[in-house]
Amino acid sequence: MNEKKPLIGITGIIGSGKTTVANLLGEFGGSVFNADQAAKKVAQKPEVLSQIREKFDDSLLTAKGELNRSRMAELVFQNSNQLIKLNRIIHPHVREQMWEFVNLKQKDPACAMILIDSPLIYETDLHKHLDLIIVVATDQETCINRVKKRNNLTREQILTRMAAQIPLPEKTKRADFQINNDGNLSDLIPRLKKIYQNILNKYME
Ligand code: ATP
Repeated sequence: MNEKKPLIGITGIIGSGKTTVANLLGEFGGSVFNADQAAKKVAQKPEVLSQIREKFDDSLLTAKGELNRSRMAELVFQNSNQLIKLNRIIHPHVREQMWEFVNLKQKDPACAMILIDSPLIYETDLHKHLDLIIVVATDQETCINRVKKRNNLTREQILTRMAAQIPLPEKTKRADFQINNDGNLSDLIPRLKKIYQNILNKYME
């Protein structure tokens, strides 16, 4: 039996259902690291905020000195250089936290596989460090409708954010598994159970 737990990336376009998929796999017995949630926490660290103040305009911080997330999103999703600049500040911290999580979970007997939920697995070359990638392949219109409902963003804002990431066809071409999430949760769960079992069979030999 393989002692090392498989490191699985879950990716896809905005609103495709990455977190839904990762959390369901987590319920089956995996442990989930959510890169977006980690990035949000990182952006609250004083040393990160001071770097943001240094490299960006003051107007990107609120009067309290916190990150003005909606203003930052507007800026970076319209300008790829600004997005690169922001990622250079945030990303190393997220990566560090991710490896801490991975090292911890490698020793956890209750964890069958380690799941990294991130929209930027290929964009940040993280795939080179993972054993296997699952792409959540959901129709773009379905993603737009789900994000509209969840975040109160306009169609244009969502399309701008999507344009800042590698498009779905390229992600699906590169992934080991793709899972369709166009339907409801009762369609998704049995598909995920099969993938989960496939991964266990592959790595527990
Ligand atoms: P983001 O890229 O914005 O972080 P994501 O890819 O992680 O999004 P989720 O947050 O999992 O996607 O899903 C987006 C929204 O769609 C959520 O409100 C979620 O509850 C809903 N959703 C996901 N999958 C389904 C489904 N199969 N049926 C109904 N709603 C779903």
